[in-house]
Amino acid sequence: MAMILGIESTAHTLSFGLVNEDGNALPSSSDLYTPEEGGIHPREAADHHSMIAGHLLQDLMDNNSLDSTDISAIAFSQGPGLGPCLRVGASIARGLSHSWDVPLVGVNHCVAHIEIGRNQTNCNDPVLLYVSGGNTQIIARKSGRYRVLGETLDIGIGNMLDKFARNHGMAFPGGPKIEALASDWLASDSTHTMDEISLPYAVQGMDLSFSGIMTAANQKVADGQPLEAVCWSLQEHAFAACIEVAERAMAHAGKNELLLGGGVACNARINEMAMIMCEERGATAYCPPKPFCVDNGTMIAELGRRMLSVSEATNLSDSAVSPGLRTDQTIVSWD
Ligand code: AMP
Ligand code: MG
Repeated sequence: MAMILGIESTAHTLSFGLVNEDGNALPSSSDLYTPEEGGIHPREAADHHSMIAGHLLQDLMDNNSLDSTDISAIAFSQGPGLGPCLRVGASIARGLSHSWDVPLVGVNHCVAHIEIGRNQTNCNDPVLLYVSGGNTQIIARKSGRYRVLGETLDIGIGNMLDKFARNHGMAFPGGPKIEALASDWLASDSTHTMDEISLPYAVQGMDLSFSGIMTAANQKVADGQPLEAVCWSLQEHAFAACIEVAERAMAHAGKNELLLGGGVACNARINEMAMIMCEERGATAYCPPKPFCVDNGTMIAELGRRMLSVSEATNLSDSAVSPGLRTDQTIVSWD
């Protein structure tokens, strides 16, 4: 069976994934660059990606008993992301496309999160709440594009969680560690209210902002509030803000499906909030399995498959990476 190979390399994660021509998705082979200290260093992440790429791809092919003749196209993340990281993925994609003599297709990473979500959950026309490390956007399809109805004005929600965690001695990725501490706090006493550890509310119109809430949360810990309590309140405030904007987007756009995507969508509490909000308005919340929420090669393969079903492959001369690519720059003409 012919397979589309997808290559993801926008930031921390290098990942190869596969879908077959009917859109059946296989698990990705992924590896995460974790800085020894501080945040992501783009060139070091890119070095990690280029060092590990050969092994990862070999693992994927071996695990699925495939060889190069089984691959019918190569899809890669063209943007948005960190230039040095994107260039590693694009170079691998160009090399494989040339040597295996199969089409190349550059895809929009944010749109890929939507399409793997639709693929995995069978929702059709959702509002996407895309909550990842570097991105936080509320997106809906309208007139042939995925439109950004709201987004963060400063840092992504995942970066905010990771930075807060790092300030308190927790290594990347911080989101799952904050989630664990927040549940410990709730387990100790479930009568807590947000007013006890109040933080700024991140909504600005249809947009969001997370740097102020992080500074305030750091201050709460410095003032002697228990770290578990601040983690809990940080989640409550930040997730409620996302859900509020998503709800308004659903009302404005007239959609009755909400799809979660991005690494922060692995969090049980944001899923619970999404479900409650949707139930209250007679809508349905969807979330793909965790390996398809975080950055993964399979989502790139799935978007590549959909694009090739309606348009030509990407020419070599158009295959340059696009670190600032916007969600709504991609024309969406597939189903
Ligand atoms: P992505 O950028 O989509 O690959 O997702 C990575 C981001 O997801 C990082 O910022 C992680 O801290 C965050 N993340 C992963 N799992 C969780 C979780 N359970 N709760 C909150 N954030 C999470
Ligand atoms: Mg992502």
